[in-house]
Amino acid sequence: MITPLLGTSFIGYSRSTGTVVCGRAVTPGTGVTLEPGYLSATPEEVERAMSLAAAAFPVFSNLSGKTRAGFLRAIATEIENVVEDIVERGPLETALPEARMRGETGRTVGQLRMFANLIEEGSWVDARIDRADPDRKPIPKVDLRSMSRPLGPVAVFCASNFPLAYSVAGGDTASALAAGCPVVVIAHASHPGMAEIVGAAVVRAARLTNMPEGVFSMLYGGGRNVGQAVVKHPVTQAVGFTGSRAGGTALMESAANRPQPIPVYAEMSSINPVVILPGVIERGEEALAEGFFGSLTLGVGQFCTNPGLVFMPADRGDAFLAKLKSLTEAGTPGMMLNSTICKSYADAKAFVAATDGVETLACCASEAGPGQGSPAVFTISIKDFLRHQALQHEMFGPATLIVRGSLQEIEAAITNLEGQLTASLHATDAELAQSTGLVNALQQRAGRLIFNGFPTGVEVCNSMVHGGPFPATSDGRSTSVGTMAIYRFCRPVAWQSFPDAALPPELQEANPLGIRRME
Ligand code: NAP
Repeated sequence: MITPLLGTSFIGYSRSTGTVVCGRAVTPGTGVTLEPGYLSATPEEVERAMSLAAAAFPVFSNLSGKTRAGFLRAIATEIENVVEDIVERGPLETALPEARMRGETGRTVGQLRMFANLIEEGSWVDARIDRADPDRKPIPKVDLRSMSRPLGPVAVFCASNFPLAYSVAGGDTASALAAGCPVVVIAHASHPGMAEIVGAAVVRAARLTNMPEGVFSMLYGGGRNVGQAVVKHPVTQAVGFTGSRAGGTALMESAANRPQPIPVYAEMSSINPVVILPGVIERGEEALAEGFFGSLTLGVGQFCTNPGLVFMPADRGDAFLAKLKSLTEAGTPGMMLNSTICKSYADAKAFVAATDGVETLACCASEAGPGQGSPAVFTISIKDFLRHQALQHEMFGPATLIVRGSLQEIEAAITNLEGQLTASLHATDAELAQSTGLVNALQQRAGRLIFNGFPTGVEVCNSMVHGGPFPATSDGRSTSVGTMAIYRFCRPVAWQSFPDAALPPELQEANPLGIRRME
């Protein structure tokens, strides 16, 4: 290990001195605990991290995009320098295989460099210019210029299911830093060593690129204790979160009840409906079942885009269901991220199986070992589905519920679905042409519409939308993946009648940065 694991928080450029052990990493399945014990940040240390973030904000937010881009690229390089540490520690803490560790490291550094390119180029600030017209009648027009500016320090909660790409230096942190916001990370108890490895890399990068102290801190002690204190702290101006609906809504409540309410961008719960129309079933049921099963079981179903709900005609698809049954029965149990997630998954499956009207189509024939989750497929008629709102709750694992009814019933049921990250439509071109109402209903409920494909696999790019109406996220106007994620941590500011030299360069008459502007 290049990175010494000390078990302490990063408070700006110092390490914490707390003495209360709040947890140790536990290897899923074996239950073996790993050293070191992680020490909870004290209230004084939380206060120090917040006051450093407050002091860093005016400096950091006024650095040029090019300088901040240098910091993001340095983080990416420092993470790459410790990839062997990640590969050594990660599988012990998460049961995720080495290939996933390497792949997720690649995605993480790719995201950091994507945001670096965005802010170096500079046009993302959405500069708008309305020049003065003193001769306008009946009243003169003033000079008005606007652009996006950072909100202030951001609290980022690490995700259990993306220990790199949505944790310490993941998408929320990268987009907040890119916007010009200092970040205070709350480490997840499931992978504290990974957090320390990446946190140390971020701090090295901050020092190497001369960032103001407090641009980054990372705290141990859990969300309910330390995390709540950060969210309620007056310095914090926004929150990024990926996790459970209960956790996300608790943070929304805390943020809304502050003397100054602040936005929470929580990605919580989505069952990602897949609608299959008759023409596609006739085209090849077995291949469809194989594609669907691959998406369902990817990463032991522990993705926010897992397809947990299928709508299909009541009178078709017997071969699709037969194939799905045989794939499920022959499937293999997989190790889940931690014992809590494993138990929640088992409980969620048991709840669905026991719900009136639900039939178990198939369960994995192999018995799940300790810490493992196995695939399962349930079916229900659409009439019964509509009687049980709780069937819309996420089963976080490789299980799905197939709902069967007429096309009219399916469209009506979709109108009443909770908000989703994705909605997939399997249809022939002719069916698509006749499905305007259905597509509109799906678009009302989801952030990303997929045609003849499956929802897992989220491309990180400019046009990705990884968001959706509640409870998929707390704010359906946003995305947590892709360059648009930066706007979560900004607000528009207008300058009226300012002398040119006093304007930010983005708004100056000569456009010295050469960015795209609306003028
Ligand atoms: P979680 O229980 O919501 O925890 C995530 C983070 O939020 C942890 O740091 C936790 O801290 C904190 N937290 C939880 N409740 C809080 C509260 N009331 N106030 C402040 N902070 C709070 O999620 P998880 O541990 O990652 O997984 C649990 C379940 O969440 C899964 O079984 C799954 O159902 C769901 N999940 C969904 C997604 C998705 O993308 N859809 C992703 C991950 C998890 P503590 O250590 O103090 O609890």
